[in-house]
Amino acid sequence: MNLSGEDRHNSSAVARRDIRDLTLDELESAAAEAGERPYRGRQIAHWLWRKGAESFDVMQDLPAALRTALAERFTLAPANVAAVRRASDGTCKLLLRLADGEAIETVIIPAGDRTTLCISSQAGCAMGCEFCATARMGLHRNLTAAEIAAQVFAARRELNPGAQLTNYVFMGMGEPLANYPRLLGALTAMTAPWGMAISPRRITVSTVGIVPMMEKLLAELPVNLAVSLHATTDEARDRIAPINRRYPLAELIRACRRLPLKARSRITFEYVMLAGVNDTIDDARRLVKLLAPLRAKVNLIFFNPFAGSDLERSPRAAVEAFQAVLHRGNLTATIRESRGLDIAAACGQLYAEQHLPQDAGARDHERRAAQLGIQD
Ligand code: SAH
Repeated sequence: MNLSGEDRHNSSAVARRDIRDLTLDELESAAAEAGERPYRGRQIAHWLWRKGAESFDVMQDLPAALRTALAERFTLAPANVAAVRRASDGTCKLLLRLADGEAIETVIIPAGDRTTLCISSQAGCAMGCEFCATARMGLHRNLTAAEIAAQVFAARRELNPGAQLTNYVFMGMGEPLANYPRLLGALTAMTAPWGMAISPRRITVSTVGIVPMMEKLLAELPVNLAVSLHATTDEARDRIAPINRRYPLAELIRACRRLPLKARSRITFEYVMLAGVNDTIDDARRLVKLLAPLRAKVNLIFFNPFAGSDLERSPRAAVEAFQAVLHRGNLTATIRESRGLDIAAACGQLYAEQHLPQDAGARDHERRAAQLGIQD
C-alpha cells in the first residue's frame, strides 16, 4: 500500500481513527484503498450502525483480508461502561470510560411510552454556567463523533427487554455547538439512511446559545433546537450563563427568529428556576415579551443542587406563578420535574464522579442527600 503522509500518521497507535468517525464516502474509499470494491463501504456501515458491531472480527461477510486491513488502519473501541446506576424513578445513568481514561455520563430517562437518551458531547464543558455541575470540571476535551454516537449503543444494551430509545437529547455533559464538526459527524451517522436512520425529529440539540453555530446546524439538519435561556436581562444572564457576554439576549433572540424552522416546529427555551435570581413575576412578563416574536415553548426546570453551589431552587409556588404569567401571555410552558435526582443523573448534575477527590465525593453525597430533604 502506498501511504500518504496522513496515512502514515494514522497508522501509529495513538493517532488511528475510530472507524465510526468515517462518513459513508470515507468508508467506501477505505474499502477501495484496501483493494476492495466500494460497495464494501456500505457493508461496513451496516455492521457499524445497524448491527452495532464492536469488532472487525464479527463482520463475517467481509473478506478476511479486508477485515485485517481495516483493523490495522482503524480502531473500533467498544463503549466501556464503567458503572451503571439506576434511580428509583427508572432513570439510568451510565458512566463511560473513554480510551484515554476520560469519563462521560449518559442518561436513559423512561417516561410513559417514551424513552429518552441524554447524550454528552464533551468531557466537561467550557461554558461556565453557574448553575451547572459539569461547568465545574472545565473542558477536558471534545468527544469524537464515534464517542458521541457510541453512547446510543451503550444505552441500548442497558434497556429493559422490549424497551426502545424513542428520543435523543444533547443535554448531557458539554456544549454540543462548541464541538460542531464532531457533533455533525455523530448526527449524520445517527440520521443517515446508511447509518442508524433515526428521524431527526426525534433528536434535540440543546445549546447555551452559540449563535453562528445554531444557524449552521439547522441549515444542515432538521433536528429540534433547545436554547438554554435562563434569564430575561443581560445583567442576570451575563452572570449565570457567561456566553451571554459574547452573544447577548437581543442577538440570541434575533438569531432564533431567523432560524429555518420546519412547519409546526418550535424552539424550546429552557429556563432553570433559581430563587431570587430569575424567578420573579417581572421576569415572567419579560420572558413573554422576549419570546413573543418566536415560535417558542418554554420548559421551566427545577434547579437541581450540587456540591459547591450556593444557588437555590425556586419554591414550587413561585414556579407555578411564573408559569401562569407565561400562559396568560399565550406561551406554552411546561414545568419539568427532576428525574434521576437520587443518583445525580438529573439536569445539571452530570459530573463524571471519579474526577472528584474521594473526600469531596463523600461531601458531595452528604450535601446532596441533605438537599433532597428540602421541600419545594
Ligand atoms: N450546553 C448545552 C447542553 C447542556 S444541557 C446547553 O446549555 O443547553 C443544559 C440544560 O441542563 C439547561 O438548559 C438546564 O435545563 C439543565 N440544567 C443545567 N444545570 C442544571 C441544574 N443544576 N438543575 C437543573 N437543570 C439544570
